[in-house]
Amino acid sequence: MKRSKNKARNKTKNVIRIIDVTNRDGVQTSRLGLAKLEKTMMNLYLNEMGIYQSEFGFPVTRHETNYLNANLELAKMGVLKPIILSGWIRAIVEDVELATKLTKVEHLNLSISTSDQMLYGKFKGKLTKEDIIKMMTDAVDLAKKKGIKTIGVNAEDASRSDINFLIEFSQEAKEHGAERIRYCDTLGYDDPFTIYKRIRLIASEVNIPIELHCHNDLGMAVAVSVAGAKAAIDSGVDAYINTTVNGMGERAGNADLVSTILAIKYSSGFQNKYIIDERTNLSCAWKIAKFASYAFGIPISVNQVAVGANAFAHESGIHADGALKDKRNYELYDFEELGRGEPEIIETGRMITAGEYSGIKGFRNVYDRLEIKFKDEKEACKILELVRYANVHTQKPLTNDELRFIAKYPDIAKKIFTMTPLV
Ligand SMILES: [Zn+2]
Repeated sequence: MKRSKNKARNKTKNVIRIIDVTNRDGVQTSRLGLAKLEKTMMNLYLNEMGIYQSEFGFPVTRHETNYLNANLELAKMGVLKPIILSGWIRAIVEDVELATKLTKVEHLNLSISTSDQMLYGKFKGKLTKEDIIKMMTDAVDLAKKKGIKTIGVNAEDASRSDINFLIEFSQEAKEHGAERIRYCDTLGYDDPFTIYKRIRLIASEVNIPIELHCHNDLGMAVAVSVAGAKAAIDSGVDAYINTTVNGMGERAGNADLVSTILAIKYSSGFQNKYIIDERTNLSCAWKIAKFASYAFGIPISVNQVAVGANAFAHESGIHADGALKDKRNYELYDFEELGRGEPEIIETGRMITAGEYSGIKGFRNVYDRLEIKFKDEKEACKILELVRYANVHTQKPLTNDELRFIAKYPDIAKKIFTMTPLV
C-alpha cells in the first residue's frame, strides 16, 4: 500500500519548535560554565541552525547585563536574526522590574514552582497555591505593561504538581496574556506515557501552546520531550521543546539539541507526521557540538548521538558489509546532513596562538592565517587588545570563529568583555 506523505502532513498544521536553553540552564551546570563570548558564539551558531529561540541568559544578574544588551544589539543589526532571544527570571514583579530596567530584553520566561514538594520543601509552607498564582499573574501583568512581546510562564516541578492546579495555573497565565506554558520536568520524573497524558489534559483544557522542559535524571529527557510535544500537537496546539547542546545542564543534564531534532525527523512514529519548524537545519550540528565540547571542556563521548566518533563507524563484518552495500542498511540518517565528513586539520608543527599576553607580531600571524587584513596599525592594536580581553574571559585559545567575530564586530565585542561590579 502506498502511503501519502502529504496526506499525513496536511492532517496537522501545528509545528514543533526548539527553544535552546544552553545559555541559561546549560550554564547552571555545576562546576562548568561559559564565558560571555562563548555564549555569544552559541547564539550565532543556534541562529545558523535555524533554531527558533535561544534563552540567552539572566536579565537580573548584573554580570550578564552587557552581554545581553550587546547580543540584543546584534539582533537589531540583523546578525542574530531571525532567532528570538529570551531572558529567564523568577515570576515576581521585582524581577520583571529589574530585568526591564537593566536590559532591552523583549521576550521573557517567568518561572515559579507549582508542586506541593516545592511549596512545603522550598517555600516551607509560607506560600499557598493562591499566592503562587497571584505572584505569577502580577508578574505577567507587569511584563505586559512594560511592553514585553512574548511571555512564557514556567511551572517549575510541573511533573510533580497536582494536575488540576496546573490547569488552573495555566488558565490564569493565559488569561493574563502569557503566550506559552513551560511544563518543567525539573527532576526528570516523567516518562513518555505520563507526560503524554498530562500535556494532553493541560493543552486540551486550556488551549495554550506548551513548552516541554525535561531533565535527564532517568535517561529519558529526549523521549519525554518528544512525547510531550506529540501530546500538544495531538491536542491542536503548537509545541516547543527546550534543549541544550550536548545535553549540558544541571545534574544529568537536559534534552540534547541534535538528538531531539533527529528524533522528530527520523523516529518511526514522528517522521513525516509531526513537523519540526521548517527553518531548523542540522548542517552545523557537528560544529556546534564540537564548540560546546571545547567551551565547556567536556569531551564528546564516542557513542554520542550523531556527533560521537562512532556514530557512523562500522567494524563487524556483517555491519560493515551491509553499510557499504546500502547505507540505509545500518544508518538512519546521513553524516553529511550533520555537517560531518570534512577532514579536520590539526596543527602538528609550530603554532602561534592568540591569548591574553600576545604581542602584535604573533597576533598578526594568527589573523594572516585567517586572511583577515587590518586597515592600519591602529586598528590592529585595537583588535589585539580585544583579543587579549577575550582570552582573559575564556582562558583557552580563541577559536577561528571567535577571532573572526572580534575583528568583525569590535564594538560589540568590547561591550561583551566589559564588566564592572557595582559593589
Ligand atoms: Zn532545567
